[in-house]
Amino acid sequence: MDEKNNIGSLYRRIPKVDVVLKGEKIEKLQQQYGYEVVLQELQNQLQNLRDSIAGGITEGDLMELIEKLPDRVERAVCLSLDFHIRPVINGTGIILHTNLGRAPLNLRHLERGNQIGCGYSNLEFSLEKGCRGDRYGHLEEIICRVTGAQAALAVNNNAAAVLLALSVMTGGHEAIVSRGELVEVGGKFRIPDVMEQSGTRLVEVGTTNKTRLEDYEAAVTEETRAFLKVHTSNFKIIGFTEAVSTSELAELGRAHRIPVIEDLGSGLLIDLERFGLSHEPTVQEKIAQGADIVCFSGDKLLGGPQAGILAGKKEYIEKMKKHPLLRALRTDKLTISLLESVFMEYLNPDKAAESIPTLSMLCSTVECLQERAERLIKMLRERGIKADIAIERSEAEAGGGTMPDVSLESRAVTIVPAHVTVETLRGKLYRGAAPVIGRISDDKFWIDVRTISDQELERTADMLVWAML
Ligand SMILES: *Cc1c(COP(=O)(O)O)cnc(C)c1O
Repeated sequence: MDEKNNIGSLYRRIPKVDVVLKGEKIEKLQQQYGYEVVLQELQNQLQNLRDSIAGGITEGDLMELIEKLPDRVERAVCLSLDFHIRPVINGTGIILHTNLGRAPLNLRHLERGNQIGCGYSNLEFSLEKGCRGDRYGHLEEIICRVTGAQAALAVNNNAAAVLLALSVMTGGHEAIVSRGELVEVGGKFRIPDVMEQSGTRLVEVGTTNKTRLEDYEAAVTEETRAFLKVHTSNFKIIGFTEAVSTSELAELGRAHRIPVIEDLGSGLLIDLERFGLSHEPTVQEKIAQGADIVCFSGDKLLGGPQAGILAGKKEYIEKMKKHPLLRALRTDKLTISLLESVFMEYLNPDKAAESIPTLSMLCSTVECLQERAERLIKMLRERGIKADIAIERSEAEAGGGTMPDVSLESRAVTIVPAHVTVETLRGKLYRGAAPVIGRISDDKFWIDVRTISDQELERTADMLVWAML
């Protein structure tokens, strides 16, 4: 037989769609997952067969593939319906790991969100007046109580908050920024680009390491609409540096009737020095120092959902509420509910440090971490893990582009597998039912326990033992 005929006969071996659909296994799949999903995956699999023939598959191999067709369709259907975003166990010791979803939330706060999400709510309905209400009003009072601001507004993220503040307050005019604060934060958020997007002309003053009050003053023109201060949250310049404080700038601003906008990055709301950490500026501090508008993230040190918060003077917040851009940047009802729950915790700062996961991880004591690591080791031994395991000192960090110079002494469980390489172990762990993310160093797999909750320990142990098999 010549090759062309041979290929033709191979194509004729491919079963017809309606015949396969009547097979027992495929019929069951249709009952469970529906006709459309099964048909789609079957057609994909049949196309794969045609591609294999074009690629020169032998008749024997082809018949084997055809025999396994129902199994392959079943696997493809299950895979196509598997959730793509999944929980992982964070053994990196990086608390606000941007790639792993930044701040984890407290289940209690999420349950409140469930109630709002599962049914209807007064999102835009005034229960007092019985008519249309204000979706931006739910959070204003609580944010003001916690931060000391006159007015507040929440949007989609801090990038959106900065864009809105600039669009409303400086769009079409000039804003003055220190050259030491023209930062880029993760994911290509660059201050000069955001300013351009808002239609603001950037006026740079000072130098990379030193900017003085007179630099700002000398740059003031008729066109100046704000002094913009940006917290250099993800890097530190050491050595001979000089920057102007928010209070000094606010004073200059008052003399010239120019507001100060401060992009604080992380929305820290409690004093970390109480927990033996170094000082990081808080939102309350910035408001008290006279910043007219402070912008900050909801899911960095604040420990809440993804959001951006604007807090400050009422006259500016009112203008933002009327700006058309707000409609494109607004938060949904779940975020509003979660933010409200998280802000409520801050009414009692001692409680916040316990109930907000980001803060409790940040403030965990070394004794507590040592004890957690020992419990994990015990669980691994009980399960008969086939590896050398030990507890070692490690360095955890806040992450999320915050507190770049702070390293937190922590504890890690290190693992040297007996039968597989450490790279193989990592690969398997990442593909597991509950992926455990860690790092390889010194030919060991490191799992920092600062970012693993007590509730996750059993699952972590199960996954590690499974991955070693
Ligand atoms: C993180 C950060 C942002 C961006 O905040 P998102 O909530 O990620 O949009 C903006 N400015 C500063 C200084 C930051 O640290």
